[in-house]
Amino acid sequence: MCIFCKIINNEIPSYKIYEDEYTLAFLDLSQATKGHTLIVPKKHFANIFETPCEELHHIMNSVKAVTEKLKKSLGVENVNILNNSGTLAGQTVHHLHFHVIPRYENDNCELCPSATNPSFDELKNLCDLINN
Ligand code: 5GP
Ligand code: ZN
Repeated sequence: MCIFCKIINNEIPSYKIYEDEYTLAFLDLSQATKGHTLIVPKKHFANIFETPCEELHHIMNSVKAVTEKLKKSLGVENVNILNNSGTLAGQTVHHLHFHVIPRYENDNCELCPSATNPSFDELKNLCDLINN
């Protein structure tokens, strides 16, 4: 059984932030910033490719509930919402989860430091490739 399934089954402890019929949210052991929270479905799905839309709707409702709770409790007004799906995307626990990472002034938290600036032609070709 995966580590998040064990957390859901209360076989290993976690610091719970929010729970409903479909999802659980708990503090990430490693706090990228203060309040960094993970939201997981109670059913095991490895990643976004494996997860039905209906489940994603439940998860997104919980992401919203968590952001509101962090706002009320910690005064959070800026967040990154992040999902890593697949090893190459940096996924280390293969039970779908969304990170809610509060952002603060000068927090030095860099989530995606490398980016490219393709030309409009390159963007158009890419757009055509994806749509056709
Ligand atoms: P990923 O890189 O797969 O998107 O993120 C996995 C996250 O799970 C990491 O940020 C890591 O700190 C967190 N994590 C791994 N094991 C545990 C655990 O046992 N408990 C909690 N609360 N977080 C965990
Ligand atoms: Zn699992």
